Amino acid sequence: MTYLTAGDPGYDEARSVWNAMIDRRPAAIARCSSTAEVADAVRFGRTHGLEIAVRCGGHNIAGLAVPEGGLMIDLTPMNAVRVDPALQRASVQGGAMLGKLDKAAQEYGLATTAGNVSHTGVGGLTLGGGMGWLARRFGLACDNVVSYEVVTADGDVVRAAADENAELFWGLRGGGGNFGIVTSFEFRLHEIGTRAMIVEFTYPASAGLDVLRGWRDLNANAPREATFTASITPDSVTVGYVWVGAGGEDLLPAFRELGPVQDEVVAETTYLKLQTREDNVQGHRFRRYWKGHYFKALPDDAIRALLATPGPSASLQAYGGAIADVPDEAAAFSHRDTLFEFVTATRWDDPAEDEARIDQLRGYAATLAPYASGAYVNTLNDDPIHRAFPPAKLQRLVALKTAYDPGNVFHLNQNIRPGEPTSESVA
Ligand SMILES: Cc1cc2nc3c(=O)[nH]c(=O)nc-3n(C[C@H](O)[C@H](O)[C@H](O)COP(=O)(O)OP(=O)(O)OC[C@H]3O[C@@H](n4cnc5c(N)ncnc54)[C@H](O)[C@@H]3O)c2cc1C
Repeated sequence: MTYLTAGDPGYDEARSVWNAMIDRRPAAIARCSSTAEVADAVRFGRTHGLEIAVRCGGHNIAGLAVPEGGLMIDLTPMNAVRVDPALQRASVQGGAMLGKLDKAAQEYGLATTAGNVSHTGVGGLTLGGGMGWLARRFGLACDNVVSYEVVTADGDVVRAAADENAELFWGLRGGGGNFGIVTSFEFRLHEIGTRAMIVEFTYPASAGLDVLRGWRDLNANAPREATFTASITPDSVTVGYVWVGAGGEDLLPAFRELGPVQDEVVAETTYLKLQTREDNVQGHRFRRYWKGHYFKALPDDAIRALLATPGPSASLQAYGGAIADVPDEAAAFSHRDTLFEFVTATRWDDPAEDEARIDQLRGYAATLAPYASGAYVNTLNDDPIHRAFPPAKLQRLVALKTAYDPGNVFHLNQNIRPGEPTSESVA
């Protein structure tokens, strides 16, 4: 194991994360190469009274992977991915990035649900749920995890699966990094071939209400291969879908009839290209802020609110399909009856713009709050945890947290506080 401290080569690189607003200086960074080293690092941090944070892809918007003056447990050296094509399983170390998993699985025409940007970490994404273009067919990333290897707050190594530490298994599927450090995920893979299609139709903002209404109605009968998308700017509305697998053209005529099309993209591509398409736009050097909501319905009034004062970027992505097939109580992940996930995001360079940028986004998101039913745990920014989990779920998560991490060693995450749920812990 290597411990890096300020001034060591690699220290500044290891503490840099996706959101350039985060500039924290850990007292030490433990670069871990094995499960045993992760366990050692947890004990080291606790012995020295250091606040502990866990880093995989470093994409958490609030930079929770980087503790000021604490110990960052950096999992990125643990990035091995092993695919067993016969069993259709992938064994993925806790510090791997999505791109590595996608690439290894696609060599056999296989894949599992993963997010849309390849430099996102498997760790944080999967522990919070994991939404991607395959989720409507195969469920969220967390629905495809067969087992986890976990280092607990005591530095013990345990396995969690449906038949082993079942309650921990339940909590790890959507409960975030609260219960331990996952050193290995075993994923179920699916035969998907290698083809994908991207469809985007752009219309003037003046047609926005009709277009979004029509798009919403088409989504109700969309095949599971299609994930409907929409993005709204002050000048235009773009709607479409991403399709993975063969076919997908049958929906095109209906989109052409939604309104006066200004621009049309119908692009056949490969699944791997789809999965890296946004890598550059979503690059690392910008200051960032976002807010998210889940919508269980999209009434016309919500569409009007979406169109009224859009921030620099507002997007919707469809849920449903296999995500909603899983009973809500089957895993920590909640709000499976979401129709669309909404995210508004902005990026900028100049720190002088911080306040104005953040205020603008908060204001826009607030106008949509009346139509929201919670939010995705991995999109929470400065939001309370109860947006991600309804009260009964939160109560069960608090009990699990109390059993596995009563001292809240792992608190730099979307934190579920141990102890009895009080109005404070659910507020
Ligand atoms: C550009 C971009 C694109 C995104 N696209 C999607 C998407 O398509 N679908 C989607 O669902 N989400 C998406 N997200 C949200 C993403 O899921 C979260 O930002 C998530 O926190 C990223 O995980 P990470 O490992 O990269 O981040 P990190 O900041 O490294 O980790 C976040 C937190 O997760 C925990 N954690 C990470 N790894 C482990 C581990 N192995 N064991 C225990 N705890 C761990 C820690 O608590 C840590 O604080 C995207 C985010 C960004 C920035």
